[in-house]
Amino acid sequence: MKEVMIRTRGLTKVYGDFVAVEDLSFEVYKGEVFGLLGPNGAGKTTTILMLLGLVRPTKGEAWIDGYSLTREPMEVRRVASLVPESLGLYDYLTARENLYFTAELNGITGEEKRRRVEELLSKVGLSEWSNVKVGKFSRGMKQRVGIARTLMHDPEVLLLDEPASGLDPRARVHMRQLLRRLADTGKTLLVSSHILPELAAICDSIGILHMGVLRTAGPLQEVLSSLRRHRLI
Ligand code: ATP
Repeated sequence: MKEVMIRTRGLTKVYGDFVAVEDLSFEVYKGEVFGLLGPNGAGKTTTILMLLGLVRPTKGEAWIDGYSLTREPMEVRRVASLVPESLGLYDYLTARENLYFTAELNGITGEEKRRRVEELLSKVGLSEWSNVKVGKFSRGMKQRVGIARTLMHDPEVLLLDEPASGLDPRARVHMRQLLRRLADTGKTLLVSSHILPELAAICDSIGILHMGVLRTAGPLQEVLSSLRRHRLI
């Protein structure tokens, strides 16, 4: 039996009289990369922020690793972590220094901090670049520092908002490989994008969000063939 790590039921967000996300229900399984596909304004970011408890749902419920978003928000924040589109790294610090700073914010100090940061730099393929100021990094390398930072407290679920946006084709390949490796170690990933081929290359399952409504969701190949049948591509 596959373990469900993200489950939403009727998740809805209304701003004034505008429905940004409507009645969203889907599941993501452990060790899976789930892609949330939709054009700008479809409600992807709102969904991600709701799943992290950063935006309060108007209606509905979600569970992350079995924890209820509405009743156990602190547990949800412990098991789920965001890699935002805008990374907010310190350009004048090196990759290692950025991660040291994050470690200390997480209460990790001394030898444990050094060990953990080296492990994360290696995991995201940045060991050789660890002493370079992040301001000199490409977008793809900054993304990798952002992912390492998010992994600091070892969350089970990672939510990545448009991780491939602004990456050149080579950096996209590296990003895909990194996300795949993380999923293979048992992490569960939810990735948003407005580009289908980008998601198709890394996802096990996808959901298509359009004007706040989930039109279809399921294993990648099933969704792709249903799209072909309906000539929606
Ligand atoms: P993008 O890729 O452009 O970020 P998205 O799919 O992530 O798109 P959201 O950012 O979730 O979309 O926005 C969904 C809709 O909700 C948009 O029409 C947006 O204008 C609206 N919206 C988002 N946040 C708010 C808010 N705080 N107040 C009012 N409307 C909002």
